[in-house]
Amino acid sequence: MPGVNSAPRRVLVFDTTLRDGEQAPGFSMDAHAKLKMAKALRDLGVDVIEAGFAAASPGDEEALRRIAGEVDGPILCSLSRAVESDVVAAHRALKSTTRRRIHIVLSTSPIHRAAKLNMSRAEVLATAVRIVQFARTYFDDVEFCAEDAIRTEIDFLGDVLEAVSQAGARTLNIPDTVGYSTPFEIGQIFKHLHAQIAPRFPDVVLSAHCHNDLGMAVANTLAAVANGAGQIEGAINGIGERAGNCALEEAVMALRTRADQFGVTTGVDTRKLLATSQLLSELTDCPVVRNKAIVGANAFAHEAGMHQHGMLADARTYEIMRPEDVGFDGTRLVLGKHSGRHALSQRARALGYDLTDNVIAQVFAMFKRRADQIGEVDDTELIALIEQVTDIRVGGGKNVVVN
Ligand code: MN
Repeated sequence: MPGVNSAPRRVLVFDTTLRDGEQAPGFSMDAHAKLKMAKALRDLGVDVIEAGFAAASPGDEEALRRIAGEVDGPILCSLSRAVESDVVAAHRALKSTTRRRIHIVLSTSPIHRAAKLNMSRAEVLATAVRIVQFARTYFDDVEFCAEDAIRTEIDFLGDVLEAVSQAGARTLNIPDTVGYSTPFEIGQIFKHLHAQIAPRFPDVVLSAHCHNDLGMAVANTLAAVANGAGQIEGAINGIGERAGNCALEEAVMALRTRADQFGVTTGVDTRKLLATSQLLSELTDCPVVRNKAIVGANAFAHEAGMHQHGMLADARTYEIMRPEDVGFDGTRLVLGKHSGRHALSQRARALGYDLTDNVIAQVFAMFKRRADQIGEVDDTELIALIEQVTDIRVGGGKNVVVN
């Protein structure tokens, strides 16, 4: 918790929509789509855009090069394995910008050391130091990622992170690669590592990169922030490997809405969250589910009568955020079978019909039957019902009193 007089700590937002997100099945984007998305992320105000993995394919390298040439502002980053040729490819792709970062990944957990790397602890540590030193000859800004950190022995993880900090890494990514952690556990891990690293390397930033296999990616990311993480990694709409990454729009709005709990800020212009989410959805031809937090079509929609009554009196009765703050035009009061008479007459008035109680009662009865048939009763349907009851044609329907 921040002290009473301390300014809020600024947490950096590292977006990996175009790397971890894009590498998931169904979310592939070509260089043109990636460039469009990168511009939207710049406008959104993220601090770092991980725009690809240069060594993965010529297309990825080309996309990184184009983004580096056309997108100013955020730091642009390429993923890299702990091999020299990957570092060289990342540099080739990003050399046109001074605001470049390399994100080097090397596994540290016992299962990855044995099954993937066939390396001992000592070999992993030596490789990590050597590759960070090599990368520093091409990049001032090096992020080191201890892949599968959460399942790594904490003493060994601490040793590796200290050693790469000494070798010149500026950011230490401590990912929950497999989405296995819990808020309590990851909080303890960040607290421990922050206490170990910060005194010796006060400028080194700890980063959280959480996956959503158990549906806890956002919660785990927030727990990391509460325990010393200075950077959060995630993707728009939560896309990414398997069940995806921390959904950036959710983490950012949680930090903002519950600033009383976290005491931090970000550089994100939250009013652009919806447009960014919709652009990604269009570019990947992948719709966002209606009930998705923050950016789903229902995120600020109310149908139930009791809720609508409250909302019409004071939006704070059922809304913890203002729809405008994430880019919606406003609250959507949906007229359906759960809606009440109050919301119906309010909507009729907004459409220009000032109806008597008697007429409202008749329209309401018909409205309920219609809602049972079709679900949501939109404005056109409602006008048709009103005109059926009042038996008049109301041209334009503006401010007509019907008795
Ligand atoms: Mn990942």
